[in-house]
Amino acid sequence: MATRRPLVMGNWKMHGSLAGNAALLAGIRQGAASLRGQPELAVCVPYVYLAQVQAVLADSAVGWGAQDLSVHDHGAYTGEVSAAMLAEFGCRWVLCGHSERRALHGESSALVAAKAAGALAAGLTPVVCVGETLADREAGDTECVIGDQLDPVLALGADALSRLVIAYEPVWAIGTGRSATPEQAQEVHALIRASLGRHGAADTRILYGGSVKPDNAAALFAQSDIDGALVGGASLQADSFLGIAAAVS
Ligand code: PEP
Repeated sequence: MATRRPLVMGNWKMHGSLAGNAALLAGIRQGAASLRGQPELAVCVPYVYLAQVQAVLADSAVGWGAQDLSVHDHGAYTGEVSAAMLAEFGCRWVLCGHSERRALHGESSALVAAKAAGALAAGLTPVVCVGETLADREAGDTECVIGDQLDPVLALGADALSRLVIAYEPVWAIGTGRSATPEQAQEVHALIRASLGRHGAADTRILYGGSVKPDNAAALFAQSDIDGALVGGASLQADSFLGIAAAVS
């Protein structure tokens, strides 16, 4: 079995300022050096800060990326940003289908999969987010909802699947302070892993996201199918982001 290197990725959402980012990035850069390359680290920032992040992190071990991309290559799509544009700013990563994009911008699972395919074609690594709402979970529909979200991504095929990352982010755990328990997360990660395995990509990394903090990260990372974390709020402070990274054994 191939080794799945742990990955801890920050999602800044719509937060930041030039001055605040400078301090945050300096702290992450400095702390990352002492993690001795384990795990892989990255931050996904608002588009307008990509040049700043590229300048600060260019010769560091910390990667960077965006939080969304256009499904189109170029053209009359006011306000959109293409995968090739992200690649020009040194992005390695791009989030696809974060629950806030699905809920607030009506992104369908088919669109999310098309964005992931576009990202791969431009040499980016898409991090495809899936997750159920509390209502879905309480109705016993978690497996079905995750399956529906994954299906168009699985249809991209084994080669694509082996080059992307999945993030399981239960919507009820995002920004609520109420993380899934390690057992709840592992149960869904195992389902996702089995689906990937049936499509020839059992070694694709699967991150957990949803109120990950330094004090709950180690228990989550101890689960066999959790390969790291997608971190929102706790990625906005260098010490908490690095504390999560340090919890990777
Ligand atoms: C997220 O936005 O992807 C996320 C997981 O947020 P938080 O860590 O704040 O729950």
